[in-house]
Amino acid sequence: MFTLENKKALVTGASRGIGKAVSGLFLELGAEVWGLGTKEPSDLADRKAASNGKFHWISADLSDLNVAEAVIDAALKEAGFFNVLVNNAGITRDNLSFRMSLADFQKVLDVNLTAAFLTARTVARSMISRRAGSIINMASVVGVHGNGGQANYAAAKAGLIGVTKTLAAETSGRGVRVNAIAPGFIATDMTAAMTEEARTKISQAIPLKRLGDPKDVAAAAAFLAADESSYITGQVLPVDGGLFM
Ligand code: NAP
Repeated sequence: MFTLENKKALVTGASRGIGKAVSGLFLELGAEVWGLGTKEPSDLADRKAASNGKFHWISADLSDLNVAEAVIDAALKEAGFFNVLVNNAGITRDNLSFRMSLADFQKVLDVNLTAAFLTARTVARSMISRRAGSIINMASVVGVHGNGGQANYAAAKAGLIGVTKTLAAETSGRGVRVNAIAPGFIATDMTAAMTEEARTKISQAIPLKRLGDPKDVAAAAAFLAADESSYITGQVLPVDGGLFM
């Protein structure tokens, strides 16, 4: 496995699910990690204790777009710099397009796209001045292929892929890499509402015959964060069990 020794990473949405797995693996690989979520996770004390002082926490609601950049700036000041950003915070508010409220459409765009853009460009500015850095945006297969009941989420994740490729083009001459991961169905709180029947049906449709584990996504993030992926930018890496091969 790769090393993230001497790297400082900011992971948004680190309280649970994929973000928690990413922070855990990054710590294991030697990074110092700043996790961010709307509130302190209940296991924060344990996670801090296990990290030997290398796990830090920031409570902030990134959907407040008036403060999102200031929050990330403050995190940058505290850490000094970040070598890695995993832009992972995300929400769903599913409904058929015809029934979806404007508020639910807007909220999903605010968190999954606009806040992610503001976070990425704030960290990218600082990475450019150091001529180094890796930004990993957590997109979704839904952003590439669409999904019934998720017009807001699909729009946000498709937009995030656009931001990824654009920011990669804007920063690649200055030592910064920007990539996206497109997870398929991963077993987290986000997919927990599925009925057992739906879960079985989806598992059967996935060539690798199971939902993904957050650790599967964390391993891809570790690769994109590490120097071993230094010739890769502007890409979308699917982690979907072959669902869209
Ligand atoms: P999850 O278990 O629901 O966790 C979401 C995380 O995002 C939590 O840490 C949450 O913090 C944070 N968050 C939500 N709204 C926020 C806000 N306004 N400000 C700051 N943090 C916020 O989700 P997950 O399944 O791990 O998903 C992580 C990412 O992967 C998301 O971007 C999601 O769209 C993407 N993804 C997931 C799947 C899947 O199947 N699970 C598939 C494709 C893509 P709090 O705990 O404080 O609310």
